[in-house]
Amino acid sequence: MIITIGKAKENDFVVNDPHVSRHHASLIRDEHGVWFIEDKGSTNGTFVNESQVVKKRITPNDKIRLGDKYLLDFQEVIKSNNDYSEEFARLKTVYDNYIQSKIKIQSSNQFKIRLFQSLPFAIPGIIGVIIGFLGKGSSNLFLLSLLIVVCAPTIGIYLGAKQSAKIPQLLQDITNQFKIDYVCPKCGTFLGEIPWESLKNRKHCPVSSCQAKWIRE
Ligand SMILES: [Zn+2]
Repeated sequence: MIITIGKAKENDFVVNDPHVSRHHASLIRDEHGVWFIEDKGSTNGTFVNESQVVKKRITPNDKIRLGDKYLLDFQEVIKSNNDYSEEFARLKTVYDNYIQSKIKIQSSNQFKIRLFQSLPFAIPGIIGVIIGFLGKGSSNLFLLSLLIVVCAPTIGIYLGAKQSAKIPQLLQDITNQFKIDYVCPKCGTFLGEIPWESLKNRKHCPVSSCQAKWIRE
């Protein structure tokens, strides 16, 4: 996020001071939430704690001066600017990944369940063919095959049930992570399972105390 500061009206934060340039400086927040101030080639300079800077990392406690006299109130600038469009744009990936992994979990589980449940019906057939070839007249092999024919469906049903029990847990895990990640970048309110494109049409956070701008106008 970038907040431009200067005397010109097109700045995000307009300063009326004779020693402040038209395009004096920018406040920049990087993707880790770290703030910087950058001088835009102003006539009278930008100062942090009385040292002139070109670009410097800042905290809310730093004293920022533009030109000779104007003290920049960092909190005031942030409050006056409610632009969270860059952070909001990144939520599209969060939503897309969530939906994709949900579909992936569901379809891979359905495949495994079907596989396990069809095994019991396939195995006896294969065993039967083998016995038919090798074990002509052997009663031991016949008993063994009988045992497998009886056991295989039970095992298959058991594995199938076990696999389907895994789905809720996996889905719960990704849903929990989604609730942490898919939030308003300013107030942290969970945005629900609402597609990003639909949220985009709202343009700003509906939480009355927040109203963060999601889309730059
Ligand atoms: Zn919000």
